[in-house]
Amino acid sequence: MKIGVLSLQGDFAEHIVALREAGADAAAVKKPEDVLSCAGLVIPGGESTTIGKLCVRFGVGEAIQELARRGAPIWGTCAGMILLAKEIEESDQWRLGLMDIAVRRNAFGRQVDSFEADVPMAGVEGGPVRAVFIRAPHVTRVLDGAEALATLHDKIIAARQGQFLVTAFHPELTDDRRVQEYFIGMVREGK
Ligand code: GLN
Repeated sequence: MKIGVLSLQGDFAEHIVALREAGADAAAVKKPEDVLSCAGLVIPGGESTTIGKLCVRFGVGEAIQELARRGAPIWGTCAGMILLAKEIEESDQWRLGLMDIAVRRNAFGRQVDSFEADVPMAGVEGGPVRAVFIRAPHVTRVLDGAEALATLHDKIIAARQGQFLVTAFHPELTDDRRVQEYFIGMVREGK
C-alpha cells in the first residue's frame, strides 16, 4: 500500500519522513506513471502556483485527476490544499479542482508569516494537534458534501470530503504523527 508524496516543489522530504515514522510505505512521486501506482497521495506545502505550473508541464496534474477518479485518498497541506480546491478566491491560477471547497491564500495576513497554535481536530483523538502555519491559506466555504474538521479564529483550517483531506497547517513539521495516522487510515479504508 504505497503512499506517494508529490515531489515537484515544497516540503515533500519532510512528508516522506513523517509518513514513514507513522508506518506507511511512502515514496516520492514526480511522473504520471508514479502517481498512478499509488494507493494514496500527499500534496505538500510549498508554492501553489509553482507546483501547479509543474503539474501541467509534466502531465502530473492529469494523472492526479485520474487517481482521484479511481477513488484514491488525497491529502493536501497548505499549498496542496489550495491546489485541491475548486475555488481560489481572487485567483485564476491553475488547480486540480477536485474538492468542493473555496480557499483564500495567505489568509492570516502577510505580516504574520508563520505561527503555531494548538487546535482540536475532529477524527483525531487524544487532544489538540500542534498546528504550524506558514503563509497559510484557509477554507472560506465548504460546498457540497465537504465538512470542516478544525477551525481557528472562526476560520476553517482542516476539512474532508470523502477521499479528500486538506489541512492549512503542516503536521509534517511537528513530532505528532496523529494526522498522518488519520490519513493512513483513509488509505487503508480505500483499499
Ligand atoms: N502561500 C503559499 C501558496 O499560496 C502556501 C504556503 C505553504 O504551502 N506553506 O502557495
